[in-house]
Amino acid sequence: MTRRIHAQALILASVFSIAPAFAQTSVIDCGKLLDVKTGAWRENVSITVENKVIKSIGPIQAAQAGQTHIDLRNYACLPGLIDMHVHLTDETKPQVEQFRAALTLDPADIAFRSIKLAERTLMAGFTTVRDLGAGDGLNISLKRAIDNGDVLGPRMFTAGKSIATTGGHADPSNGINKKLRASLGKPGPENGVINGIESAREAIRSRYQEGADLIKITATAGVLSQASSGDNTQFSDEELQAIISTAKDYGFRVAAHAHGNEGIKRALRAGIDSIEHGTYMDDEAIELFKKKGAWYVPTISAGKFVADKAKINDYYSPLVQPKAAAIGPRIQSTFARAYKAGVKIAFGTDAGVFPHGDNAKEFAYMVEAGMSPLAAIRSATLSAAELLNQSQRLGSIEPGFAADLIAVKGDPLKDVKVLEQVQFVMKDGKVAKKLP
Ligand SMILES: [Zn+2]
Repeated sequence: MTRRIHAQALILASVFSIAPAFAQTSVIDCGKLLDVKTGAWRENVSITVENKVIKSIGPIQAAQAGQTHIDLRNYACLPGLIDMHVHLTDETKPQVEQFRAALTLDPADIAFRSIKLAERTLMAGFTTVRDLGAGDGLNISLKRAIDNGDVLGPRMFTAGKSIATTGGHADPSNGINKKLRASLGKPGPENGVINGIESAREAIRSRYQEGADLIKITATAGVLSQASSGDNTQFSDEELQAIISTAKDYGFRVAAHAHGNEGIKRALRAGIDSIEHGTYMDDEAIELFKKKGAWYVPTISAGKFVADKAKINDYYSPLVQPKAAAIGPRIQSTFARAYKAGVKIAFGTDAGVFPHGDNAKEFAYMVEAGMSPLAAIRSATLSAAELLNQSQRLGSIEPGFAADLIAVKGDPLKDVKVLEQVQFVMKDGKVAKKLP
């Protein structure tokens, strides 16, 4: 098509305010394509994408006029990957830098810094993420910027600010002196800190108001907060009930950070949708997962990373270091037990606790702990989409689904580590990463 015809068509299209169809059809030729539902490869297929959506899949055909062709015949194509646990507005730093950042940076500084973190995540093949907590509404603003096309990043589902109890894992006033704490004012439900049923309900409504997609609570203590315990129970049964029933009213699913066994079980009994980390779950907790149909999001990567950094003097504060050393190394074996027992697993890493872009290392950790590569890939596609309540649109390459796909060299069903070297990324029908 000549440039002039192209221009005329564009003008016509704008006169009638319709998009020119020829500019929007891309055809992707894949050497092989993984059908995640059957687990089988399909050889030499063409995927036709129109208006951000997969239109058809068929045998490779000659290019037609007006179509953009993408040649991935030497590659294996898979659905875009989904990470169910990231913090795109934060990234690990030694404690000194962490404290300096907390004292000197404004929310806008943190927002600008997070642009490259989002981009890195997408380039690593993760076309969708669940962001499980940030202050100042930063993750919600980042999601808007990505949706607007202002920032290159994965499709985000965000929890807004995590919900904790006073002194709990996501209380933003932890670890600072009394004077600073007083100057902050006591954080309340709007800042994600609740005590009792009324403030629990208010916190859910605040998340609704700020534009969150789901709710995240910190059901037990955690590793990286400035507090003595890493696993104690931090919500009462009544508070959990109030959170989950109010969340249901607003159509929110609820994810719970939890390391301690009692906090895990309380959250499961109350009807939580997913447990993050799950470090100290016992057999009774495993049975509860299965009985309730709750998901487990392991985050083995975060465990390994903090265990490693705990060996470096002063990387973490004196409060955090022993927690990182004790909890970090246990997550992979917890995952192995839970998976073997039949708990539903959705892929999640806690990226931000370790550098963004390294998300795909989790696959090898899962396989090392007894999962097949296909099951690990399903946890980051079909299962993650199911936990997001997006099974009709995400997690598989089929007609009617969002045009999110990646390409790798080699066979990830034989060597799952090839997913650490994603060569091509498309999100919503747009090429985000070109072939090298
Ligand atoms: Zn987290």
